[in-house]
Amino acid sequence: MSEPVPITQKLALVTGASRGIGRAISNALLEAGARVVCLARTFQDRIITAQGRETDIRCDVTDPAAVERALTWVRAEQGLPDIVVNNAGVFLVKPVGDTTPAEFAAVLSANLSAPFFVARTLVPDLLRRGRGDLVTIGSIADHVTFPDSTAYAASKFGVRGLHQALAAELAGSGVRTTLVSPGPVDTELWDPIDPDSRSGFTRRRDMLQASDVARAVLFAVTQPFGVDISEIRIMPSGRRGS
Ligand code: NDP
Repeated sequence: MSEPVPITQKLALVTGASRGIGRAISNALLEAGARVVCLARTFQDRIITAQGRETDIRCDVTDPAAVERALTWVRAEQGLPDIVVNNAGVFLVKPVGDTTPAEFAAVLSANLSAPFFVARTLVPDLLRRGRGDLVTIGSIADHVTFPDSTAYAASKFGVRGLHQALAAELAGSGVRTTLVSPGPVDTELWDPIDPDSRSGFTRRRDMLQASDVARAVLFAVTQPFGVDISEIRIMPSGRRGS
């Protein structure tokens, strides 16, 4: 089996990297030697940390002008990213009749439009360079449906469509596309739902950890250039800690 390809000094961009899965992905990329640009709404603007290898930029990725501004700055100051991880997202569990049009639009905006805004801004230059990794964090909900999840399912099935269309458009270009689709992961995303007190939900102690998803991302982006990991599905085994 071939060794992972080093990503030392490569430039990565991770959206939604202030906590949860995005934070874990950024940490894994930093530990593997990459420089990482992190986007989130709650960052102070353009703070350079982690011995100069992490740059945090305040950016609401649902705003196409803000995405364009942030990525123009990144390209000018740090270069074109080698690894792009579209991770930022929001969750909603609500029966269809209780879901307002504004809530539906907000979920689609964060989970589906934002990855498109990032892709449309970077893909032309990635194609010109003929190299790069575009990773999308989907969900089990991008291929399995659950009750009370019309907005989330629409956004995640949509992002699977976005990923597959990009994979077709970029095939053979040297720009690789990976969809990582985890089952439940124990992050703050679950706090408002409180799955431990409701039937039909995985208990938090049985969920995946954010670092499990980060390992999958690292696996995809450290493959030899000729290998494209198009999709990774990860589920809790039900035997955590045993
Ligand atoms: P968290 O709620 O813990 O973190 C979400 C991250 O996204 C935060 O860093 C948040 O930063 C950022 N974010 C949300 N909206 C925006 C926005 N408009 N602009 C910029 N950043 C934004 O969630 P998770 O880490 O659990 O989820 C991350 C991804 O993984 C999501 O796409 C989610 O759908 C997916 N996923 C999660 C699973 C789970 O069980 N947790 C399972 C499968 C997939 P800030 O608030 O600072 O802007």
